[in-house]
Parts: sequence; C-alpha cells; structure tokens
Amino acid sequence: MSNITLDNVAKRFPDGTEALKPTDLTIEDGELFVLVGPSGCGKSTLLKLIVGLERPSSGEVRVGGETVTGRDPKDRNMAMVFQSYALYPHMSVRDNLAFPLKLAKVDRAEADRRVERAAELLELGELLHRKPAALSGGQRQRVAMGRAIVREPAAFLLDEPLSNLDAKLRVQMRNQLAALQRRLGTTTVYVTHDQTEAMTLGNRIAVLRNGEIQQVGSPQDLYRRPANRFVAGFIGAPAMNLLPARIEDGRLRLPMTRLPLPEGLRDALPAGTEAVIAGIRPEHFHVTDGAGADTDAGGFRVRPDLVEWLGADVFVHFDVSAQDSSAQAIAGARTTNEDGDADGDTRLRVTARVASDTDAQA
Ligand code: ATP
Repeated sequence: MSNITLDNVAKRFPDGTEALKPTDLTIEDGELFVLVGPSGCGKSTLLKLIVGLERPSSGEVRVGGETVTGRDPKDRNMAMVFQSYALYPHMSVRDNLAFPLKLAKVDRAEADRRVERAAELLELGELLHRKPAALSGGQRQRVAMGRAIVREPAAFLLDEPLSNLDAKLRVQMRNQLAALQRRLGTTTVYVTHDQTEAMTLGNRIAVLRNGEIQQVGSPQDLYRRPANRFVAGFIGAPAMNLLPARIEDGRLRLPMTRLPLPEGLRDALPAGTEAVIAGIRPEHFHVTDGAGADTDAGGFRVRPDLVEWLGADVFVHFDVSAQDSSAQAIAGARTTNEDGDADGDTRLRVTARVASDTDAQA
C-alpha cells in the first residue's frame, strides 16, 4: 500500500513565510492526484514535504501507514520529476535511464531489464543511443519520466512536468501520462498551476491558495459545487461570472434581470439572506436572437463589448452594473451559425443556474 497521508503538516520558512498552513490530506494508493493553484500558493512546498526535500515545521507525513517525516528523500522510495528534466547531457538516453539504478546498486541484469521495460512503455527504444541535445522537448520529458519509472518507486511526484512543452504537445503528453499512470497503477501526485490540465488529469484535485487547501474533490465536484468563491472563480475557463445580487420576494435580482430563486439555493441560504454573490457559468446564459427578453424570467438585452468566436463556441463579453458596482460578464453559446455573428444588438436570456450553494453571501 502506498497511500500518502499528511497529518496536520505545516511549513514555515526561517524568514517567516508560511508556505503551508496546517494541512490534513490523504492521497489514496494508486490514484492520480492533482495539486492546483496560482503561483506561490505552496504547491511545490507540499510536494517537497512529501518527498522529503523539505522538512515540515510541524505534523507528520506517512506513506503506506509508516511515518517518514524525518527520513531523507533517498529513503522514501519516491521518484520526483521536475519541470527542468535535469538529464545528464553527456550521457546517452540509455545511461540516463540506468543512472538511478547504478546509484541504487541494482545488479546489471535487473537494471537492463528495467531500462528496456521503461523504454518500451515510453516508446524510447529507437532513441536509447542518443544524447539529450539530440532529442525534442517531448522526448526529453519522456526520458525524465523513464528515469522515474525504472526505480519502480512507491509514488511519482511530478512538479509541472509539461510546462516546457508547446500547447499541442502538452495535451498529447498529458494524455500519454494519464494512460501510463493507469497502466502502472502507481500513486502519483501531479502539480500544476493550469486548471485545465488539473481538470483533465486528476481523479481528485486539491485546490490550494495561500498555503491552504480550499477544496478537494473530483473535477465534477469542483466545477459543479465549488466550496467557495475562490474555487468558483479559479476552476473553469472562461471563468464563472460572479455578480452582485439580491434576494427579494423569493426571487433573485441580478443587476440586469430577475428570475425565480433556484430551489437548491433557496434551501441552502440562511433565512433572511438579502445580499448574495451569484455565480453563473458562461454556458448557463443562453444567447438568443431576440426572443425571451422577459426581465422577470431571467431575460435581458445587452450590447456586447466583445464577441469571441472560437469555432464551435462563441463567448459574448458584456458589462453589467448594479447600484454600486459593475462587473464584466461572459456568456457562452454553441453556434451553428458559420460566421458566429453574435454581435450588435444581441439579446441574452439567462437561465437560472447558480453554481455555488455554500458561499452565497456577499
Ligand atoms: P509556483 O507555481 O510559482 O512554482 P508554488 O505554488 O509551487 O509556486 P511554492 O514554491 O511552494 O509555491 O512557494 C510557496 C511560498 O513559499 C511562496 O511565497 C514562496 O516565495 C515561499 N518559499 C518557497 N521556498 C522558500 C524558501 N526556501 N524560503 C522562504 N520562502 C520560500
């Protein structure tokens, strides 16, 4: 069993920076777990605490039920892959792959077997004689992953491993990595600042902000039931619209329209709540050609500031203003209209879906 448990683990650096607040977290055996959050939120620190490159200021790290808190990285049987692949430039791919095994004094026949297997898994067979300088970015990344695999570790810890690759290759490598992880079934913790990457890779995702886990859940959980306003705004692209609103006579009054209060929200809100922030995903606005502008049923008209036509999707940007605030909102739509002509006097009809039911107070 290689589940990883953090029990009240915190990290404060000598200069006083609190990189990780006291954190409890369990990563299950065999799962692909993603840590996501903006730059500086403590993702790498959390990973280093697991692998042993940093020591916690307090708390315990356990792997497979065994406490490893004070152990050196080399005694934790984990393999870490960094953004900079850190391959040895003077060594061939074969020697790069075999190097961790040489250090670990694995006998030659066994080392050869593992190198061959990793090369096969990662389709590196043809490249074993090359030096890193003669490889593409994606190939180098695969060698770095291969070096982790040959060690047959209890867990892989990956710190933004794809960020040096171009967008198309990233998507390709991301899919390969997920397939490889499923095949090997090795517990994997993957760090990224990219919410799309997190959403497409993770069985479970932890969203981190300012050294604090905001929410842990499946991609669907995070998208449909964000625990707070930060998660609501961070997960999803384009971002969720967060609009000032009021509850009046059992209805939700948005700056630009009114609509019946969604049932789930009515039950979740404390009695007497008046001011709320309504979270509405762009795809929950319906763009129409002028019909349904009833302002008592969520309809409204806007003059778009910008229309982004991305092929199948159209995003309409517009301003909304309330008494003392204004916001930029984005509506998304699928279009069958070849030229995506959603500009000019487009009317929008909003259908009620307020996604955050736990953080609905202003
Ligand atoms: P990024 O996505 O930019 O890599 P991150 O989420 O991985 O960021 P960390 O590298 O874990 O963030 O850093 C968390 C916080 O701790 C940051 O404020 C950072 O400046 C700080 N920090 C990291 N290492 C040290 C250190 N050795 N001494 C002092 N502060 C540090």
